[in-house]
Amino acid sequence: MRKILTLFCLIILYIGSFSLYANAAIGKWAKPQYIKTYIQPNHPRTVMMKHAFAEWSRLTKDKIIFRYVNSTQDSQLDVFFVDKISKEKSNSDRSIGLTETKTSSTGFIKHATIWIATNAQNGKKLSDDEVYTTMLHEIGHSIGLEHSNNPKSAMYSGVNVIQEIDKSDLATLYKIYGWRK
Ligand SMILES: [Zn+2]
Repeated sequence: MRKILTLFCLIILYIGSFSLYANAAIGKWAKPQYIKTYIQPNHPRTVMMKHAFAEWSRLTKDKIIFRYVNSTQDSQLDVFFVDKISKEKSNSDRSIGLTETKTSSTGFIKHATIWIATNAQNGKKLSDDEVYTTMLHEIGHSIGLEHSNNPKSAMYSGVNVIQEIDKSDLATLYKIYGWRK
């Protein structure tokens, strides 16, 4: 089985105006069914990103809905495609996705930005599977999930081909938002 063990994600948390807490809870959206979402248009990965968002909505039975907007002016969640994740932004030399989340001191996510890379930092073009898995993972961060130790989880910090949105990811999300099944 093809298995690519790359540490692929760094999440940056801004808690209020205080300093960075790598292990602090990310927070949650106040209105998860109205997350105004901007995706960089007309990119070869734009449609795939919409599929990744739709998968999170489907599996949460539309408890999370991304409402697409055409500009970053009033968006709450932005997605940009980049050639590579810059090394300045990342503490890993192999990162292929990045999410930055700004959270209020009361624990609500105010804004999130996701960057999805086309190429690994060594210049190798990423496969569709690798990019899609990365999208699911970064969206997970943008809605409040941290890393999981479960290799099947979309929130596992490495990339492998068996990753998907796992029951455990959904259970964590239900807990964060206080949803009932
Ligand atoms: Zn991550």
